[in-house]
Amino acid sequence: MVAPGRPPEVVVPLRTSEWTIRALLDQHEGWLARQLARAPERGLTLEAMTERQGRTRARALVHKLIAEEAPRLGVTVTRIAIRDQRTRWGSCSSRGTLSFNWRLVLAPPEVAGYVVVHELCHLREPSHSPRFWRLVAGARPGYSEQRRWLAEHGWELQAYTPS
Ligand SMILES: [Zn+2]
Repeated sequence: MVAPGRPPEVVVPLRTSEWTIRALLDQHEGWLARQLARAPERGLTLEAMTERQGRTRARALVHKLIAEEAPRLGVTVTRIAIRDQRTRWGSCSSRGTLSFNWRLVLAPPEVAGYVVVHELCHLREPSHSPRFWRLVAGARPGYSEQRRWLAEHGWELQAYTPS
């Protein structure tokens, strides 16, 4: 299966032998090459940086966004942590610590903004209730587009290897 912006995927029945898969790939090599050449989006071009640089930038970005958005949302942040979380972009503890994935600096600014606003809204509404999403929409009217971007490209940011 070849989907835009994703590595090609081969779907085979369970217990298909490695040999059969290789033979299939050989057989369809030309087709696969044509599909990949036609794929409109060849992935993101991500700026080279070390993890340390990424974390420093992420911290500055998150602090700036929180300084702008927290007063508007009427919330106070007690602690900010920058992490390398494999599965999430941000999280909010019951004690008011907000954690963010440093890889957010690789995302477009509006996407990073949405993730920060999402976690800030959890300080007012812990669950993903309709009330929560109304709060998010109030601060980021285009948030569904930013969620879609993360669903489509998040894996590319997670796969990024710092230099
Ligand atoms: Zn959430």
